[in-house]
Amino acid sequence: MAHIFSRLPDKPDHYALELEILEFWERERTFEKLHELNRDGPRFSFVDGPITANNPMGVHHAWGRTLKDVFQRYKALRGFDERYQNGFDCQGLWVEVEVEKSLGLNSKREIEEYGLAEFAERCKERVARFAEVITDQSKRLGMWMDWENDYYTFTDTNIEYIWRFLRAVHERGWLYQGHRSTVWCPRCGTSISQHEVFSGEYKELEHPSLYVRLPLKDRDGEALVVWTTTPWTLPANVAAAVNPSAEYVLRGDGTWVAKALDPETRVVREVLGAELVGLEYEGPFDHLPAQEGVVHRVIPWDEVSLTEGTGIVHIAPGAGSEDFELSRVHELPVLAPLDEAGRMLPGFGFDGLSTDDVEQPVIDDLEGRGLLLQAGRIVHRYPTCWRCGTPLVFRVVDDWFISAEEIRQPMLDANATVEWTPAFYSKRMDDWLRNMGDWNISRKRYFGLPLPFYPCEDCGTLSVIGSRAELEERALSGLEQLQELHRPWIDEVTIACSECGGEVRRIPEVGDAWLDAGIVPLSTLGWENPEYVPRGHATGAGEGLTTADLPDHAYWEEWFPADWVSEMREQIRLWFYSISFMAVTLTGRSPYRRVLTYEKLLDETGREMHRSWGNAIDVNEAVEQMGADVMRWQYCGQPPNQNLLFGYGPAHEIKRRLLTLWNSAKFLVDYANIAGWQPVWEDLAGGPVGELEPLDRWLVARTNALLEEATAAYESWLTVDVVRAFDPFVDDLSNWYIRRSRRRFWDGDETAFRTLWYALVQGLRAVAPLMPFLTDHLWRQLTAPCKDAPASVHLAGWPEVQTPDSALLEEVAELRRVVELGRQARATAGVKLRQPLRTLVVDGAALAQAHVDEIAEELRVKDVTFEEVDASELRVRPNLPLLGPKLGRELGAVRTALEAGEFEELAGGGFRVAGHELDFDEVLVERRGKEGWSVASSDGVTVALDTHLDDELVREGRVYELIHTVNTMRKEAGLELTDRIRLTLTQTDADLLADADWIARETLAVSVDADGTELRIAKA
Ligand SMILES: [Zn+2]
Ligand SMILES: [Zn+2]
Repeated sequence: MAHIFSRLPDKPDHYALELEILEFWERERTFEKLHELNRDGPRFSFVDGPITANNPMGVHHAWGRTLKDVFQRYKALRGFDERYQNGFDCQGLWVEVEVEKSLGLNSKREIEEYGLAEFAERCKERVARFAEVITDQSKRLGMWMDWENDYYTFTDTNIEYIWRFLRAVHERGWLYQGHRSTVWCPRCGTSISQHEVFSGEYKELEHPSLYVRLPLKDRDGEALVVWTTTPWTLPANVAAAVNPSAEYVLRGDGTWVAKALDPETRVVREVLGAELVGLEYEGPFDHLPAQEGVVHRVIPWDEVSLTEGTGIVHIAPGAGSEDFELSRVHELPVLAPLDEAGRMLPGFGFDGLSTDDVEQPVIDDLEGRGLLLQAGRIVHRYPTCWRCGTPLVFRVVDDWFISAEEIRQPMLDANATVEWTPAFYSKRMDDWLRNMGDWNISRKRYFGLPLPFYPCEDCGTLSVIGSRAELEERALSGLEQLQELHRPWIDEVTIACSECGGEVRRIPEVGDAWLDAGIVPLSTLGWENPEYVPRGHATGAGEGLTTADLPDHAYWEEWFPADWVSEMREQIRLWFYSISFMAVTLTGRSPYRRVLTYEKLLDETGREMHRSWGNAIDVNEAVEQMGADVMRWQYCGQPPNQNLLFGYGPAHEIKRRLLTLWNSAKFLVDYANIAGWQPVWEDLAGGPVGELEPLDRWLVARTNALLEEATAAYESWLTVDVVRAFDPFVDDLSNWYIRRSRRRFWDGDETAFRTLWYALVQGLRAVAPLMPFLTDHLWRQLTAPCKDAPASVHLAGWPEVQTPDSALLEEVAELRRVVELGRQARATAGVKLRQPLRTLVVDGAALAQAHVDEIAEELRVKDVTFEEVDASELRVRPNLPLLGPKLGRELGAVRTALEAGEFEELAGGGFRVAGHELDFDEVLVERRGKEGWSVASSDGVTVALDTHLDDELVREGRVYELIHTVNTMRKEAGLELTDRIRLTLTQTDADLLADADWIARETLAVSVDADGTELRIAKA
């Protein structure tokens, strides 16, 4: 017989099924069809924060990409037209560092020897290679994007847009060159901006801990004591700071320290810090050439710590940021001891040594001259480079900055227009904006945005070039070799100074990579671009990589600002910050209306994932082991304000739950094939047609409730609420509807089939954006007989949501609560569910009264009555997770009163105790019944089960047990659902033959006898 539905295997092979679906999407061009279908729909504008095309993607990237895909899919189901443009971040330090590694280069000098042109080519090759890898991984994850139309941040188009931005900030007077102390990575040879320092890691590092004597001039035998953990800064010492209002003591050995840091000492003299100010002392390295002419003196500083060190702080303005600030206040000389690579400069005594290598020589030197009071080691948290992990230092350098002062308030105003999910992150953004320093935009590196700054050495004019056309117009030389706007080619182009006409060169610096990603809402949408240029984004380094167009300004008006963006929380001070900075500067508006942000991904035990710790999970491996759907379900089930504990354990649990869905679909398929039942496509629009039984009407209502909840969840950008709605729906579908309707399916009941099919198919649609493969697979199976059904669930649109019958839902919810309590009562008494019992008494749950028969059947009791339960003993305990936060210090009194039985029971299951009214869910209620009764209670409902067994009940229990055993044997023997058997009972069970008809009916036996020595079945 030809089956109506294809058979489903016992469980899904996620991996194989997903590859099949991918192949189907590809073959049928499903995504393109969807895109086309919505072409005239309302617009949903999403702007993708670029992923760095520098390595394969990690499972944390897959989280973000899943969320992006989920909401794009949902909006597409609702008929929205979308852009689907993926973005790659392509230049800057991260790419350079990886290319350096792969080429075996480890310093800027080695890069320059290798050659900048070759180096740039290697960077471009790396980007192209990993863009491809990431694209493949994303497709495999089920992400639907307009692949091939990606934007690349290293294109000339993108660079030109940033140039326009830089020119605009210059025109407003925000651009300046700062001579300041900045955080510096000695390996990368560049300064690190504020937001990058936060992105880096603080590592536990061990450093020397030195107490150094600095003899006071004109005070014979007296010396200051300073403490340092950075010996390399001592040759740059120019001052010592004291807290002017703190007390300092002269100790017996002639040394001065803060009293607070050595309170036990024998004091020779005691003074306020202010009295030490102005004293001169001998520097630790006065004999070095760099120290020539420096007068060391004591300065006042209110910030001097009195909790560590000596209360006297060694000040080296060339080697620390606060020191540098103090040098401005007190007019101190600035001695900068390090070169770009973090090595000691000539004149500082330890030529060419690194900050680490210099440690021991400094210690020996100080010791030899009797200046070292004490030397130890200290382990402390120390910041490291976000890119290469090298410990950071401070250097005084000339960097380029954009002042944040004037844009701060407009950015805060713009943020006030943005709807954040979860809402409290809006305040995090505000905090960042209120505290943001000026934007350090220059990096002394190679493959990055060339800063278009041309300072004239003759007249001092700074020209900032705003476009390639302007560059060409003003160029004096080098245009002929300008293949793209990158170093080294751009460096060869000189221009004429706008003031004096002299020949000017570009500064060598490149830009912060967040400029590249920050301009995207303008550069990819064609802001102020006069005409639409097909393939106009495939310029410069992007040539041949993408077919992305450069749209015109009209297009930008249509698609800007983004309706929605989504990135990880750390992007508040990175991408969200940079796109806001640039868009607010140029357009006065926030580049996004809504944003979903989420926390970090950790391993399933809550540790950070690190390759070196062996707990990192590779994306490809996860896809193979879990399947993309299960990964996505794991991401989507996560509340965004908490860290995700990702791993195989949670994946296993998800698979177990999905199996219930699968089994329900398989149940329908198997029985429909037996009954020859055909689904009716039109049922999806209006609900199943026919003589619906109460249980059918309930499942329809339950399904509509799911659709309603899922819609609300998507509309509030919370996938976790979709998952939370779906799991109990599947439980209701399988463990209530199907279980209570088996007989009807067996009998080929048309209405039951239609109802179950409706619920299953609508349920799939509700979660299709989250789990695109499994839902499409099952959709294709379940709608295959319907010739009007779209070939893919993703082409079926969002289902009409009919208002569910909430009264009916509440009624059945109460019914299920009673049944659940009845099971608990059985379990407490140790009575198997198959053993029939006499009586159940229900107290509360008035709505469940309409379902007495179902309760009796579910709990296998003869009678169900609704009346007050006479429970002799009632124990009430606080539900601590809820009551602790609610009551605070009152909790103790409440607990004592509960223990003493001093409480009053309220209608609805609550209690009044010690002046508090507690809801039913805030307490744990335990009731002990009368002798022979088992009682269970929760949520204001109490049931009591008569556990007494008489002969008749025992005998009936044996029949149920027998039926269960036989049906298990049928399954184990591999019999079809329709196969008949001959059944032989043991002689000891002969008394059960009185129920032979019942037994035969439940086991499909054509004969039952009892002459065996063991229980046997044989196919008839
Ligand atoms: Zn570094
Ligand atoms: Zn000039």
